[in-house]
Amino acid sequence: MKHWFKPDENPKQALRLRRFLMGLSYYGIWLAIIGLMTIQGSMHVSPVFLSIAITGAVISNLVFFTLLRSGMNLQLQDPSMTFSQLVVGLSWAMILLVMTYEVRDLLLLAYISPVFFGMFRLDRKGFIQLGVFSWVGYLAVTGIDYQLHPGQVDTAYQLLRLFVVGAMLFSTGYFSLHVAQLKGRLRQQTRELEAMVAEVTELAERDDLTKAYNRRFIMDSLEMEKTRANRSGIPFSICILDLDNFKLINDRFGHLAGDRVLTAFAERARAELRGLDVMGRAEKGAWFGRYGGEEFIILFPNTSLLGARNCVERIRHITANSAFEEVLRVTVSGGVTEYRIGEDVEETLRRADQAMYDAKNGGRNLIECAGELGSTHVPSDFGSQVVVGLFGKGKAVPAK
Ligand code: GH3
Ligand code: MG
Ligand code: MG
Repeated sequence: MKHWFKPDENPKQALRLRRFLMGLSYYGIWLAIIGLMTIQGSMHVSPVFLSIAITGAVISNLVFFTLLRSGMNLQLQDPSMTFSQLVVGLSWAMILLVMTYEVRDLLLLAYISPVFFGMFRLDRKGFIQLGVFSWVGYLAVTGIDYQLHPGQVDTAYQLLRLFVVGAMLFSTGYFSLHVAQLKGRLRQQTRELEAMVAEVTELAERDDLTKAYNRRFIMDSLEMEKTRANRSGIPFSICILDLDNFKLINDRFGHLAGDRVLTAFAERARAELRGLDVMGRAEKGAWFGRYGGEEFIILFPNTSLLGARNCVERIRHITANSAFEEVLRVTVSGGVTEYRIGEDVEETLRRADQAMYDAKNGGRNLIECAGELGSTHVPSDFGSQVVVGLFGKGKAVPAK
């Protein structure tokens, strides 16, 4: 039972619970009124009848509370149960109105206060229904007055009160239309603002040409990953990729063709990263960024060197074995390394860079690892292409 009193993890449910508790203040007002009237002696209600009314109000609120905390409200058409809570609150208030005929005028404001709340929370249809319910409810209370106080009821005054209640509900309804319009405009503006923020964020984080993350974003992410790795003790891995002989591609096919190769390479690498479940990873997903020129960088959170190397090896393989329009063959070399807990990111980058230059010196179209691979497990589809260096510098030998 104890978790019933802990704040809800679902923010929407937590908000519903807060609103429910706010709604209880309505009952608090009525309890205060009953208390004050009892002290002053203006309360002419039998204690039994009053106890029944209070017990009923408590039970109905316990039902709402149970629905909210058990999550059963999520099965309802309106999980916030705003309308039903307001109707139940108004119903108990109607019973109190019946019991307090002598001081009715005093209590009318308290009676219709849920309607003000509904003005902000309900849609137009719900609000009209609530307004009609409160007015018809009050009409019923007026009718009951004739039964309970025969001969004492001033019909002209009753009609005047019915008119005042109706007029207040009508003017509140009219005002609520404006509130609904304002809410709609605010929602629309919020949506537009969110879209603009998303666009600006995209522009600030992405590289124009390849749509990969830009260098600044990747450097920030590296710092964040470093903090996370130092805290959790689970390292991340990075890879620097550099397209081979790109200058030649530019010289031979032109700068625009070179641009298209960069874009196509980035697309393929990203598609590969999306589809891969890298070994030894706590979570999927890798950050692919443009490091500069024809160099790219991949950040593999929570990933061992072996897991990252296998993934990059697949990118190398796909690059070397797929056509890039007129530039028929494009290859890439890369250096992979794993972050060593406690070190600076610059040191990790330097190692990856060095491994990448080793791959260039090794003949290009290669992935070199700086660090210990630490595991012999290689996915079956890599088996024929990769030689795993155990506990030493690992070298991925490409398929011929
Ligand atoms: P290596 O295999 O050793 O990496 O040789 P490389 O020719 O790729 O290396 P180098 O660093 O000498 O040349 C990189 C070239 O990439 C030079 C530069 O003009 C070109 N480059 C850099 N940025 C862009 C770009 O945005 N678009 C195009 N088309 N070319 C670019
Ligand atoms: Mg380069
Ligand atoms: Mg290059």
